[in-house]
Amino acid sequence: MTLGVAVIGTGRMGADHVRRIDSVIGGARVAAVADLDADRANAVAAGIEGCSVHTDPAAAMAAPGVDAVLIASSGPAHEPALLEALAHRLPVLCEKPLTPDPAAALRVLEAERRLGRRLVQVGFMRRHDREYQQLQLLLENGTLGHPLLLHCRHRNASSPSFFTTEMLIRDSVVHEADATRWLLGQEITSVQVLRPRPSSLAPQGLGDPQLVLFETSGGAVVDVEIFVNCGFGYEVRCEAVGERGTASIGGADGPVTRSAGRAGRAIPQDFTVRFADAYDREVQAWVDATRQGRVTGASAWDGYAAAEVCEAGVRAQRSGERIPVQLADRPALYA
Ligand code: NAD
Repeated sequence: MTLGVAVIGTGRMGADHVRRIDSVIGGARVAAVADLDADRANAVAAGIEGCSVHTDPAAAMAAPGVDAVLIASSGPAHEPALLEALAHRLPVLCEKPLTPDPAAALRVLEAERRLGRRLVQVGFMRRHDREYQQLQLLLENGTLGHPLLLHCRHRNASSPSFFTTEMLIRDSVVHEADATRWLLGQEITSVQVLRPRPSSLAPQGLGDPQLVLFETSGGAVVDVEIFVNCGFGYEVRCEAVGERGTASIGGADGPVTRSAGRAGRAIPQDFTVRFADAYDREVQAWVDATRQGRVTGASAWDGYAAAEVCEAGVRAQRSGERIPVQLADRPALYA
């Protein structure tokens, strides 16, 4: 059967996922879209046969031919959409963050726990990136020895006008929170944030860049440079340092050109280019698993744990102190 997907939110990511489901991956079709902005939803659905258009996410989920839901609306809209999808027992791929705050994430966990089965996957797409997968394997099979440090860099060319200092953590570093937990197989136990003088090229009032430090349950230390107005492009790098060696990912690839007295490589300008393959693999894996009645990838628990790390991170930003991360008891469903 072809999986009929309702895509909620047809902004930048939602439109990209609609294109992906419609013309890149196999086994699924876009059965419905919903966006508060009807013009945007209509434009994204144009030319997709049998795709109904809505402004209400609940109506899209109840539309004929919908078997599953992909949520790509803004973070604060995730919780009501997730609860609606769970009420219909529809499998969901929810873009990160699961919810912007841990209290909302716990309500989603509780709704899923009451159903007694997992239906939610969180769109932490780095878990589907080939390089990240290779690094995870090197760490898991012990090639690098016991992991000691991760050095992470997360840079965007520029941030959108609505981006706040808090969003550096909740929207951007949330990726490193999940990647750290997944790469190391450990929980993050504390967060500290160091704030250099803000770049004069960043929007006024934005504390950009920042250095975020995680300590983990296995004794590793992780440093994350988050710099969302670096100017030159989009760059995500990670170097793992173990007792027996190091491995790094995210270096530029593609052809080296020599011209006008210089040699160099192009730098992707945004995540849709850098992680294009990871998004394709993520959505294809979700469709394949859903058609088989399985749920793989990052769980609602992973989304909740990342939200707790970010909550501690925002408190650390404000206080300058090292803030412990305290997780709720993990329900058996996520063992
Ligand atoms: P966007 O602002 O371009 O699009 C969001 C859309 O959601 C808008 O069209 C808005 O009208 C719509 N919307 C908001 N509330 C809604 C509601 N209640 N019902 C229906 N539609 C609603 O934002 P974006 O950059 O596309 O981000 C969307 C999601 O994707 C966010 O959760 C964001 O964090 C995530 N994201 C993930 C990645 C990644 O690398 N995985 C990258 C960028 C964004």
